[in-house]
Amino acid sequence: MLREVYSGRVGTYEVCDASPYLKSAAKFHGEPTDARCPVCRKENLTNVHYIYGDELKQSAGQARRLAELPVLAMTFREFHVYVVEVCRACGWNHLVEQYLLGRDGIAGTQGEAANAVGASGQVGAGRAPVRGGGRPRTRLRPGAGE
Ligand SMILES: [Zn+2]
Repeated sequence: MLREVYSGRVGTYEVCDASPYLKSAAKFHGEPTDARCPVCRKENLTNVHYIYGDELKQSAGQARRLAELPVLAMTFREFHVYVVEVCRACGWNHLVEQYLLGRDGIAGTQGEAANAVGASGQVGAGRAPVRGGGRPRTRLRPGAGE
């Protein structure tokens, strides 16, 4: 996706479409990262964790702090977590990864998830190679490497 933006095939107006809701979720529930926004480079990205699942009922689709996830994982049998990186300056947002949590899941998943979130903080840090032949940026592809 970023490659498309840099190459001009996708206008930034198309990707910088964070809703006011997403931006406020980033403000109140987001986890700050060390990664600069790859689009505007004005602010660091914030990771927002959304939870989805039938068991969650009214909570489904809500943003939760990372620290709340282990508690939820002990409460529910299974739910999906979607990690979205958001730039609060320009509105860039992108699904970084998704994973399953819950009592039915494999023990230790949470630790891996936390590590994965930390690793995703590297996305966009420094000068990103934008043309073909650069370092593979697999973290941008949800589900890759999990
Ligand atoms: Zn930005």
